[in-house]
Amino acid sequence: MLSGPWKQRLIRYANTGTDQQFPMRDGLNSPRTILGRKILQRKNMNSSFSFQNKIKGEVRYNEIMSKYTSMRIGGPADVFVLPESLRDLQIILKHRGSCPVWTLGEGTNLLVRDRGIRGIVVSLKNCFKSIKRPVFYKTPDGKERAVIQVDGGVKLSYLAKYAARYGLTGIESLVGIPGSVGGAVVMNAGAEGTEIGQVLRSVKRVNLDGEVEIFDKDDITFAYRKTTFPSGDGIVIEAELDLEKGEASEVHRKMGDHISRRSSTQPLTMPNSGSIFKNPKGDSAGRLIESSGLKGCSMGGAGVSIKHANFIVNKGNASAKDVIKLIEHIQTVVEEKTGTKLEQEIVIIGE
Ligand SMILES: Cc1cc2nc3c(=O)[nH]c(=O)nc-3n(C[C@H](O)[C@H](O)[C@H](O)COP(=O)(O)OP(=O)(O)OC[C@H]3O[C@@H](n4cnc5c(N)ncnc54)[C@H](O)[C@@H]3O)c2cc1C
Repeated sequence: MLSGPWKQRLIRYANTGTDQQFPMRDGLNSPRTILGRKILQRKNMNSSFSFQNKIKGEVRYNEIMSKYTSMRIGGPADVFVLPESLRDLQIILKHRGSCPVWTLGEGTNLLVRDRGIRGIVVSLKNCFKSIKRPVFYKTPDGKERAVIQVDGGVKLSYLAKYAARYGLTGIESLVGIPGSVGGAVVMNAGAEGTEIGQVLRSVKRVNLDGEVEIFDKDDITFAYRKTTFPSGDGIVIEAELDLEKGEASEVHRKMGDHISRRSSTQPLTMPNSGSIFKNPKGDSAGRLIESSGLKGCSMGGAGVSIKHANFIVNKGNASAKDVIKLIEHIQTVVEEKTGTKLEQEIVIIGE
């Protein structure tokens, strides 16, 4: 991480918004130092990269990502932007130059490496937070259903509770998933047999050129913890869900059951990122890890949870390096003992 006068210089130059170039010395075109790489990166950004003055939201530099991940791990992001509107988001994307962009939801399925993220991190913490009142309709066979329009930055648990207020059924089991709607759409989050992809009607996304795209659910492919869009990357800003009308008391009862099952089986009092590995077909990653004798196994500050073997917990001072070493160790031992290669579910980013 940069500090002192160098940091100030970089910030000043990143904010100029003119064609001014950082005064690079000859021979620094292929920088070998961290500082050199950072300078080159700023140069690669579009010369009109002065978000601070152009957007209503906030721009921070060298923001420590551990503050934003449920694992409480992660080094600094070069540029951390908190847009406040679609317009802000479009300005950021249109002026990012060749700088890579990462989207941060609630950071509950994310491991950010210790040296942080080179590029721009866009956090939806301050925007895309509304849910529209459900629109009810009747199907040809007389069943009552409703469409809910929800923004990408809304918490999934809030959405599930909101739907329950109207007696809408179909997403009760998602109530305990701590992510955002955007993160859930991208990960096709699910629990106990329900995945968000099953109830989606459409998704609105801003692509990396800042253009708004709308995808019908038939345009998108949903797989286990993975959603594939027909084109490139983008930021999910809205989704429409189509839900069946049920009995409100029954919907609330089911949600309560899901929440208490989670608190009795998951290490919710310690920082973690949910399931580390995908469940292999017909089996559970937790069972394989436990039967390989790895429950409680530690690397540095990272340990396999005693409560649920598919969870890695941060015991206080874990680094991303500790977690990655532990992930690799689990994969090796489980493959040796059971013949199954566990596939990672969490997203690992940064350097
Ligand atoms: C205690 C615990 C329990 C969990 N239980 C479950 C479970 O039962 N089932 C399950 O599926 N998951 C579970 N998870 C994992 C996690 O909550 C989900 O994957 C969730 O959907 C991630 O959402 P997020 O907003 O936190 O995404 P993040 O962790 O912030 O990001 C995850 C990925 O999604 C991308 N992303 C996030 N928001 C957007 C957006 N708006 N547009 C485009 N890309 C975006 C990120 O770039 C990243 O690639 C659990 C996690 C924890 C900590």
